[in-house]
Amino acid sequence: MTTDTTSTVPTHAPAVPIRATVFVSRWPNVPAVEFPGIPDGTFSPTTAILISGETEVVLIDALYLKDDVQDLGDLIERTGKKLTTIYITHDHQDHYLGIGPLKERFPDVKCVALPHVIESMKETMDMQTMQWNLLFGDAVIPAGPLPEPLDGHTLYVDGSPLNIIEVKQADVHPTTIVHIPDIDTVIAGDSIYNEIYPMLGLSTPAEWQDWLDTIDIVEKLQPKMIVCGHRRPDGDDYAVDTMIAQTRSYIQDFIAAFPAAKDADDLIATMSAKYPNHANLWTLQFSAINAIAARDGAQ
Ligand SMILES: [Zn+2]
Repeated sequence: MTTDTTSTVPTHAPAVPIRATVFVSRWPNVPAVEFPGIPDGTFSPTTAILISGETEVVLIDALYLKDDVQDLGDLIERTGKKLTTIYITHDHQDHYLGIGPLKERFPDVKCVALPHVIESMKETMDMQTMQWNLLFGDAVIPAGPLPEPLDGHTLYVDGSPLNIIEVKQADVHPTTIVHIPDIDTVIAGDSIYNEIYPMLGLSTPAEWQDWLDTIDIVEKLQPKMIVCGHRRPDGDDYAVDTMIAQTRSYIQDFIAAFPAAKDADDLIATMSAKYPNHANLWTLQFSAINAIAARDGAQ
């Protein structure tokens, strides 16, 4: 593991412990524009996380709706601390469009991601911009600047390390998680879901197996707190065992139900009966429609 030379390497424990503060977005209706094949529903609430120390703040993921990013900027300002860095976990626009307005508001901030992730952002930019406009219309921030490549795999907040770990698969790949050892916290990106239907409609059955390996990696870090990219507004970031167990069993159950499902409705009925307390049914509907279309198209 290499070290980001622009950051301060700690020589002693910080006087003020670092902390993770979770900002949860609105829970918007989708789609903004009627489109065949896209069901009506809601888009999962999305998180942005402030890691703050005595004087500095690092933001992990930057949201995508104009109103949320305004509120997120207000929250950062109210800390009275310096926003040094924005780190983006993966290439989905719900996690990064906010860097445009945040860079304008905090001109000294550095926005970074792993080189792989930036390449993927470039490749999918046009398609995602079309999709996000369809889903959110004028509420969404237009596509703007991309992050710069991160040198190494470590960021610092007032001397405390944030370790970036690239994992093989979450809802997409390339994708990353952030481990913060000083507070036993994992920022999971979209590798773990917290009481929200996981997005399985953007990956293949082989990639669903790889996603299970990623869950093992998160579990081995033995975090006390996991912040998922998508969680209920009233979600519990300390319900670590439940989050890990439910994400794992959900993917296993989806893998088991998928080959035998008559159609998307059948798969939706099976999964929603098994996980009646998961929120944001739309993500299951979208995932089932896409997965069954790929299966039947491939036959
Ligand atoms: Zn996401």
